[in-house]
Amino acid sequence: MTFFKDEILTYQKIKQLSFFTKDEISLIEDNFNTKRIGATTFYLNLAGKNINSHLRKQFVPSKEELKIFEYEKADPLYEKEFSKSNRIIHRYRGRVLFIATASCALYCRHCFRRYLDKAAIKDADNADVKILTDYLKANKYIKEVLISGGDPLVLDNDFIEYLCKSIREVSKDIVIRICTRVPVVLPSRIDKNLVRILSKYRPLYIFTQFNHSDEITEINNKAVDLITKSGIPVFNQAVLLKGINNSEKQLKELFYKLISISVKPYYLFQGDIAAGTSHFRTNLMQGIEIMEKLRTEMSALSLPLLAVDLPEAGGKIILDRNSVIKRENGFFYLKNSEGKTFKYPDEPPDFPKDNYN
Ligand SMILES: *Cc1c(COP(=O)(O)O)cnc(C)c1O
Ligand code: SF4
Repeated sequence: MTFFKDEILTYQKIKQLSFFTKDEISLIEDNFNTKRIGATTFYLNLAGKNINSHLRKQFVPSKEELKIFEYEKADPLYEKEFSKSNRIIHRYRGRVLFIATASCALYCRHCFRRYLDKAAIKDADNADVKILTDYLKANKYIKEVLISGGDPLVLDNDFIEYLCKSIREVSKDIVIRICTRVPVVLPSRIDKNLVRILSKYRPLYIFTQFNHSDEITEINNKAVDLITKSGIPVFNQAVLLKGINNSEKQLKELFYKLISISVKPYYLFQGDIAAGTSHFRTNLMQGIEIMEKLRTEMSALSLPLLAVDLPEAGGKIILDRNSVIKRENGFFYLKNSEGKTFKYPDEPPDFPKDNYN
């Protein structure tokens, strides 16, 4: 066992800590896969026991998740279609994504990669790394490798080093992007040893996911500092979440706080159409309008790009007023980069208007 693994708590452990209410326990045990419920000691303490806490909602299931619309998908980005092996997703020409593990330190309720099953997808091993490096050698035009999951930083240092070193041996300038929520939910994992390893394999970037300004504590700041001082830039990909961060005030605070700790806001994602996440999805126009307002006073340094992954494999697009062709019969019609039209659902009419301020 590695030192940080004790801090990653399973559903059963969290239950033993009397963190869940009776209602939550019966909801969870009757309806959910408890293997994709979990959090860290750090995040549990930060979230506190207030059941309306905007941090708690990110990992505690709610009854709204039982409502599944016919257009919602287990794999909303059709990633399985773009899979070159069970771990390599090659959707965009210049970059490839490697699923290093199905495990995470904390399981986000809004996660779109909910099709990942820990039982079916084991942690990657050296043979999987060979498949990846062979793929990179056969496709020399690939300039960036995204190491994702799951959360790759729950893996041991030895494997992380082997993976980065193997990629670096293929090419000295291929960019390694590590996609991880560990700086947010398990900052103690970021220590001198890990950072020393990662900094050997630059160009390497950390892409993390702070969704709320309350997640940026002094402890998280220290973890990020260790990374940036070693020469590794940190970028943030937030998810726009109804009832958690969907207000001008909160997003402004989040983005300013991020640049104050040297983290560049990169994307703000409109929610994907993952099954059981409708309660988190904001009206498509709300994000566009908030970004328009923020643009009048904030710099390009502090502002991320608002993006959405179109359903039915339409791909990622940058969202602004011009991307919306029309709004009709419960759907928005959006154009992707190839000029094709895709439908994204409008807010269901009976949904509570829940703005966090
Ligand atoms: C989002 C994504 C990327 C990276 O896209 P960028 O716009 O370069 O950040 C790469 N591969 C897949 C499968 C993705 O979903
Ligand atoms: S850390 Fe990433 S992969 Fe894991 S549950 Fe959260 S969003 Fe999904």
